Order: sequence, then C-alpha cells, then structure tokens
Amino acid sequence: MSVDPLRSTVMSRIRSRDTNPELRVRRALHSMGYRFRLYRKDLPGTPDIVLPRHRTAIFVHGCFWHQHQGCRRASDPKTRREYWGPKLARNVERDGDHTVALKALGWRVIVIWECETSPADELRARLVEAFSYATELAES
Ligand SMILES: [Zn+2]
Repeated sequence: MSVDPLRSTVMSRIRSRDTNPELRVRRALHSMGYRFRLYRKDLPGTPDIVLPRHRTAIFVHGCFWHQHQGCRRASDPKTRREYWGPKLARNVERDGDHTVALKALGWRVIVIWECETSPADELRARLVEAFSYATELAES
C-alpha cells in the first residue's frame, strides 16, 4: 500500500499519541489480562494497539477526527466546515482503506470510539463484546 506524503503530513499533525482515550483503553485491556503492543508501524494505518496473540488491531478513534456516525461529538459548530469537511472525509476514507488492508493480512480490526472509553466498566463491556464478535467472525 502506498502512502501519499501530503496526506500523511496532514495526518501526522492531526494524530497524536498517548491520548486520554487511548490510555483508558490500554488500562482496560491491561486489567483484563491482555498483552499488547503500541503503534506497529509495519501494519497498515499504524494501529494504536495491537494484540499479536489474537491477531487483533485496535484503533482508538476521536469522534470528531474520524467522524463517528450519529455521535454528537462528530460535529463541532465552532469549526470551519468548508476547511475541515474534505480532510475529515479523507480520514474516514483512509480508515476504511486501513481496515480492508489489515483484514486482507488476516487481522481482526476493532474500532473503539472516544465516547466509548468512559466510564471504565462500560469500556470493559464494550471490549468484551468486541472480542467475542471478532472471534465469531474469525471462526465463521
Ligand atoms: Zn462518538
């Protein structure tokens, strides 16, 4: 997969590491006994969290930057829509490309949205659900 240098420049400015939602997901996974690695650059989209033993990649997405469908946080009236609209659309397109590429390599992909990362018990329930669903998909 080729990476458009302009796009990755835009993304590198947008994308930050160790965000609070990411830290919450890592903490939850840790408490559930999962072993994971961070930011595997050799995988499409550099997934935020990778569980090699489960061949599962997790993306922790900000609701605005990745346009969480139907989420209140996906729209921000203070932002300039004409400026951000196309950039956000490209983010969503890239997310889709990364998912397709990861699945083609035999990885399961789980997306956890920022708004799903608290409270902690709901996040854990969300992860349990995501893992059982991913397992079902892999076995079917
Ligand atoms: Zn959301």
